[in-house]
Amino acid sequence: MAQAPVEFAPAQLQPPSRKHETSLIEAGFAQCRFIVREAPEGAICCGEPTPRGSWCPWHRRIVYETRAEAAARAAARAAKAA
Ligand SMILES: [Zn+2]
Repeated sequence: MAQAPVEFAPAQLQPPSRKHETSLIEAGFAQCRFIVREAPEGAICCGEPTPRGSWCPWHRRIVYETRAEAAARAAARAAKAA
């Protein structure tokens, strides 16, 4: 039986630890830049180490939607408009 490629496994993802939170300005290379809250000193981002790109797997899942999710959203919008 062929298995579909799985880019994300949401059920297996855990929310990032808050221990890595840092100000957006101080976030370095390979740190998640998803803004988790605003503080008086500025935007605070997740800061979780990232395997690649600008977001940890948890926040990448939020930032991007899968093709299936995009199709479902489009279908829902079409149904609403009908
Ligand atoms: Zn993150």
